[in-house]
Amino acid sequence: MNRIGNQVADTQSAHPAIDKSPGSISLISGCMFSGKTTELLKQVARFPQESVRLFKHVCDTRYAPDAVVTHNGIAFPAIAVHSASTIVNHITSGVRVVGIDEGHFFDGQLLNIAQGIAQTGVDVIVTALDRDSWGRPLPISSKLEAASDNSETRTTACSQCADTATRTQRLTPIINGNMIGGEESYEPRCKRCWKAPPEAPLQTDSTIRS
Ligand SMILES: [Zn+2]
Repeated sequence: MNRIGNQVADTQSAHPAIDKSPGSISLISGCMFSGKTTELLKQVARFPQESVRLFKHVCDTRYAPDAVVTHNGIAFPAIAVHSASTIVNHITSGVRVVGIDEGHFFDGQLLNIAQGIAQTGVDVIVTALDRDSWGRPLPISSKLEAASDNSETRTTACSQCADTATRTQRLTPIINGNMIGGEESYEPRCKRCWKAPPEAPLQTDSTIRS
């Protein structure tokens, strides 16, 4: 270590509060089937599994209750939580990376929680839809993007014309406001092929799971 490096190290050891530099916040957004979760799993795979904690919302019952699973069937163990604030209860020393899948299922505290975790030196990676089924930007995703250090908006091929899909098409009736579904209920479409379902509800941070 050079002289400047030694000085920095000495300063940090004298002030434990600034011992760790903040971690980063990364957002992987886009429409359904654009590979958001696949990219999340690819990014966390660079770290030893014991230093990674993945979280999902308990309302996301697709595929598996205790794992984040891509639409292609790739899985990684995950903790299902009821709210954003309970995520911190599961972060122990040695955790370097926190992944949060389907951030749009979480309450409005998600951004504050992600920022608090990053302040402890842990990198946070969140996946989230960027728009709801009516094509409106999701407030929770917009806030995360504004606060993120890195953000990527993914696209895929339109299921109708193979052009660039930026929207998620609802295929089945919406019953009691439940928006959760997989391939049976949604497909990716470009703006021209996409049609909004009827009766757009008022938007909240939790519109997507109501
Ligand atoms: Zn199209």
